[in-house]
Amino acid sequence: MKFVRYINLREKAFMLIIMFGPPGSGKGTNAEFICSKYGLSSIATGDIMRSKMHQQDALGKQISKIMGTGELFSDDIINPLVSDAIKEKLAITGNNGLLFDGYPRTSGQFDFLNKLLTELNIKIDVVLLFQIPDSTIIERVTSRRIDKETGKVYNLQFNPPPANIVHRMEQRLDDTIEVITNRLNVYKQQTEPLIQKYKALGIVRTVDASETLVEAQERIVKVLSEFKQSIN
Ligand code: ADP
Repeated sequence: MKFVRYINLREKAFMLIIMFGPPGSGKGTNAEFICSKYGLSSIATGDIMRSKMHQQDALGKQISKIMGTGELFSDDIINPLVSDAIKEKLAITGNNGLLFDGYPRTSGQFDFLNKLLTELNIKIDVVLLFQIPDSTIIERVTSRRIDKETGKVYNLQFNPPPANIVHRMEQRLDDTIEVITNRLNVYKQQTEPLIQKYKALGIVRTVDASETLVEAQERIVKVLSEFKQSIN
């Protein structure tokens, strides 16, 4: 019954985007922009894990041990959560598609996603590859702060919080210089090799993430206009 619904959705109008790029390349901010502009639902594995970290169960405890170190969670933990999230998002009426932010990050996740999408009769339309030098990432990430009340992301250098809420700012555990260096290494070893697999399918489009947000967004809109008929 559910499967029929997915096929109908696909025939109507559906778009699947994967955001690819190193930690701190602006995937999350641009994901929000794309989802609100085109009516897509985001699946951000980092956010899913952060929300589960506070659970008082075995999974919550396991997550707290890894979160903040920059290491990846095992595919056995991540894959079922993603599968549940996909099914949950597909059930939302009026959803124009899905956007993955931070998934897949390993070859096991790549294979799992391919299998799942084949079962659901959904194809990946485009992989947006965010490119940015390591030095810019380190500069941006170490000055990133989050409003603990609203979850809004600020940057002490580029987008400072208003003076009246400065006291509410928190730094993500994994935004320190040591952990971001490890996250970049993990990205290069485990995630970057997947780009070649997507390039072989001819669906990768690059975005220069070292430019301003406005410039990155203009590029994204231009790239997605190639695929617009599927979401209009
Ligand atoms: P970033 O992309 O900037 O590293 P995220 O918010 O996407 O930040 O992820 C935060 C942390 O959550 C990662 O460092 C990692 O420990 C974990 N994580 C997120 N996505 C995955 C994934 N697909 N596989 C394994 N671990 C993940």
